[in-house]
Amino acid sequence: MGDALIEVRDLTYVYHPDTPQAVRALDGLSCSIRAGEFVGVVGGNGSGKSTFARHLNALLLPTAGEVRVGGLDTRDRAVTWEVRRRVGMVFQNPDNQLVAAVVEEDVAFGPENLGLPPAEIRRRVDEALEAVGLAELRRRAPHQLSGGQKQRVAIAGVLAMRPACIVLDEATTMLDPQGRAEVLATVEALNRRDGITVVLISHAMDDLVAADRVLALDAGRLVADGPPAEVFERVDATPGGRLDAPPVVRLARELRQAGLRLPPGLLTVEALADAIADALGGGAAHA
Ligand code: ADP
Ligand code: MG
Repeated sequence: MGDALIEVRDLTYVYHPDTPQAVRALDGLSCSIRAGEFVGVVGGNGSGKSTFARHLNALLLPTAGEVRVGGLDTRDRAVTWEVRRRVGMVFQNPDNQLVAAVVEEDVAFGPENLGLPPAEIRRRVDEALEAVGLAELRRRAPHQLSGGQKQRVAIAGVLAMRPACIVLDEATTMLDPQGRAEVLATVEALNRRDGITVVLISHAMDDLVAADRVLALDAGRLVADGPPAEVFERVDATPGGRLDAPPVVRLARELRQAGLRLPPGLLTVEALADAIADALGGGAAHA
């Protein structure tokens, strides 16, 4: 893993400060994200995930503390656009993010705003559509696409800016299971194949199984930071918390309590099935 790409130090953010409506959405949060890392962010409704996301590309500026992207302080207005080019955002609603009448025009929107020469714009659009697996749909109208395809167009639009990092804020939440799987596979490939740093935010821990590391937020504070299995098992061991661990993790715990000998770190249905088959002393899962 490379150096820190994003450094967040003692980040506090208050909406409507100095009014009776003041809300401390982030409260002294510190973390660092390395270049090339795939970081998941989980937390219940209102835990501060979106407020955190919006600090990573200077859509919000700290009330206190600081955020640095590639060393650039987001509070420095002279670097706002450079920060936004380096850290692209994909949001929840696929219909709110596409602006053009044709897919390839939508992807070209960012590079055109950068004032790049037409040949360079075309090259970037081709590459970005290829990277999200939508090269064949380039002349379609966005309204002809599924939700998952629309989110992949939105991701391509970000990629065309050649970012170091993509932040996805609940980008799978409105999708059906197939669209969700498509988007997760696309994001994982961008990270593993192309080395793009990914910050994937979701209230659903199941979305974050492939992450290198998961940050858990509660009431604007970082309450866990570690590999997915460790964070999920910790959440699962905290009764009455605001988050549910993924079903596979809960089932594995129940089976262990019932006396089955299972290894730690089981996150997928396949891994759990294999471990159960092993524990029962047969190869039944492979039959
Ligand atoms: P999450 O994305 O985890 O649901 P948010 O970052 O959206 O959490 O919200 C964190 C806290 O800040 C919540 O208490 C929420 O009500 C509050 N909040 C979010 N946006 C605003 C806003 N524009 N004005 C006032 N309070 C807000
Ligand atoms: Mg949110």
